[in-house]
Amino acid sequence: MKKNIVLVLLFFAVACFAQIKTFYSNGSENAGKVALTFDDGPGKATQKILEILKEKNVKASFFMLGVRVRRNPAGAKAVAAAGHEIANHTYGHINFYAYKDKDKIDKMEKELLRGGNIIKAATGVEPFLVRFPYGYLNPDAVEAAKRHDCCVINWSFGCDWKKITAGEMHDKYKKAIKNGAIFLMHDLHENKKVLSFLSDFIDEIKQMGYEIVPVSELLNLKQDRYFDSGGLKNLE
Ligand SMILES: [Zn+2]
Repeated sequence: MKKNIVLVLLFFAVACFAQIKTFYSNGSENAGKVALTFDDGPGKATQKILEILKEKNVKASFFMLGVRVRRNPAGAKAVAAAGHEIANHTYGHINFYAYKDKDKIDKMEKELLRGGNIIKAATGVEPFLVRFPYGYLNPDAVEAAKRHDCCVINWSFGCDWKKITAGEMHDKYKKAIKNGAIFLMHDLHENKKVLSFLSDFIDEIKQMGYEIVPVSELLNLKQDRYFDSGGLKNLE
């Protein structure tokens, strides 16, 4: 009897797993591709990062904060104009791990939509990739994103907030280069450490034989292919 229950549970587990995947923290280990992602901008480092990416002919993904875009729409527009991928990091960078109120999922939806709509107004792009602040990735995050045709993207490696030297930081990023990697960095603050090695880091990724592509390309995601509810909506 117990064996049957286990088999039924196993069946449902496999059935759930087989459904469309709604979150990612790395890409295929076979594709020969790597993605660079920048969070919390547009900010003080954005312009310099754009210059390096242009010089290296690389397209990245920028997970923007609605509150930053509202204050600096031109900065967001410059990222879009340079051909980079525009993605959503919510409006106000709320830490949902610490958010205990009962309206958590509603709040997450509001943050997602508020951020997404401001980003869309500034860039003309409706972002369908979302990264919740601090990599929040509980089932309610996936559900909130799915309701609005968004896919949750985390990362495989990032350490640019740690109190280590630029050399140590560069070393850690370098050691984390692998097939399908999604690297996380930040463009809100000056981020002198990352700026000191970003150009070399891009060269190192290329020397290892990997192509650097936006996250949606790494994961082969297309907005209309994923969900069927029609994009960002107004909650009112
Ligand atoms: Zn962030």
